Amino acid sequence: MNEATLTLSQEQMKTLGYQLIEALVSHHSTQHDKLPVAIASRAEMDSLFLEEAPEEPSDANQVLQFVVDKVLTKSTLLSHPKSFSFVPGPSNYVSVIGDALATGYNIFSGSWATSPVAAELEIVTLQWLLQLYGLPKRKGGGIFTSGGSMANLTALATARSVKCGDDFSKAVIYLSDQTHSSNVKAIRILGFRKEQIRVIPTDGELKLSLNKLKNCIAKDRLEGLQPFCLIGNAGTTNTGSVDPLTELSKICKAENLWFHIDGAYGGAAILSNKAKSLLKGISKADSLTVDPHKWFFQPYEMGCLLVRNHKHLSHTFTEKPEYLKDIEGNTSEINFYDLGVQLTRRFNALKFYMSVKTFGLNAFRKAITSGIDLAEAVEDKLRKSNKWQVVFPATLAVINFRYNPIAKGYDEKALDHINQTISERVVNSQKALLVTTALHGQVVLRMCLINPRTTMHDIEETLKLCEGFADTINL
Ligand SMILES: *Cc1c(COP(=O)(O)O)cnc(C)c1O
Repeated sequence: MNEATLTLSQEQMKTLGYQLIEALVSHHSTQHDKLPVAIASRAEMDSLFLEEAPEEPSDANQVLQFVVDKVLTKSTLLSHPKSFSFVPGPSNYVSVIGDALATGYNIFSGSWATSPVAAELEIVTLQWLLQLYGLPKRKGGGIFTSGGSMANLTALATARSVKCGDDFSKAVIYLSDQTHSSNVKAIRILGFRKEQIRVIPTDGELKLSLNKLKNCIAKDRLEGLQPFCLIGNAGTTNTGSVDPLTELSKICKAENLWFHIDGAYGGAAILSNKAKSLLKGISKADSLTVDPHKWFFQPYEMGCLLVRNHKHLSHTFTEKPEYLKDIEGNTSEINFYDLGVQLTRRFNALKFYMSVKTFGLNAFRKAITSGIDLAEAVEDKLRKSNKWQVVFPATLAVINFRYNPIAKGYDEKALDHINQTISERVVNSQKALLVTTALHGQVVLRMCLINPRTTMHDIEETLKLCEGFADTINL
């Protein structure tokens, strides 16, 4: 080890590297046998880890072993087959290696001049995505981001710049009561006031209500306001519901609104022939968020924004400071720092590229379809049971249900209490990550089944666990 240069000898690098690979391969092959959920208080964590930054060196292998044994064991595993909540992150090993390479070479993915191939692979993989969604390949464009939140922020900054310019004091933006909170966060970051946000109620299928939207826009126009943007959902996080995208796009066209579609959760389902028709109209977006670190099986962090017209991104995000003058280049050689927020960016395209090259797109199609099929099979299973009630049908691999044995005739208040308690006990057992959400004012259990390694057996074990807890709840 050479401390003056922060380097290790070749032997040391190899030993540390082999130890790392052993740990990763062991984790990937034994994950199923581990507990998915980690629980710890701040005090417990502090007692384990809080220390002054060490001035003196330690043995690299020992530090790595400590991290593998003591640190990484204290995190919930979102790629575990029994992690059903939020949106799991199934990931895949090839992309892990891609990420390791991008980090190992420390590629600067901000400009063409610093890494032509990082820019080129981002262009190539974005073209793959543009084509999947039926967005224009030549005129269209996009950018990889840290996640869906950043993609939504990038989209809404673009929408505002294109539709409002500098004066957005009268601008109004429309979204549904099921729209992901990252959009409202983005709108607030951009400096809009709360009164400029219209939350349109959804219908019984949790889709944005067209009539309510139309009325709201008309009313805002009468008041001299400037409707400028509508956010549609291509798979809500709660239920997987898809807004009527084609109809919404028509409204946007007629009303001169920017049409942003948040497909961070459901967008990947375009790869499944079975689900494709549900996403009809997605190609009409002015901007579309998808989130490769969810259902495209990439490790964190990787989001993506696609746009119908690439000029809208450069128009919004290009500044020309003198210290970047020498790398400005020409327009075909894209500087991704001109298309979004970040200047320094990691080489995210590499892991996506390597995993698609390795497994082939068809494997992704199958993996995505298997999640949709599994959720439907779970729905069938629940419907056949007299203990469980399906609250919202399986949609894009999400299923919402609750414990509700018909024979008991529990009232709503009791059902809320029971299902909340089931979830708490399951999570506390650490044997499955299964939390609640609220639908139509009811407490329900929600399973998001995008992990292609989750099996019906995992589900059956989890339902049994729930039933065991349910029988012991005092009312
Ligand atoms: C997850 C999600 C987001 C936020 O994406 P992050 O990658 O977590 O930042 C936005 N919208 C929807 C619909 C999501 O499911």
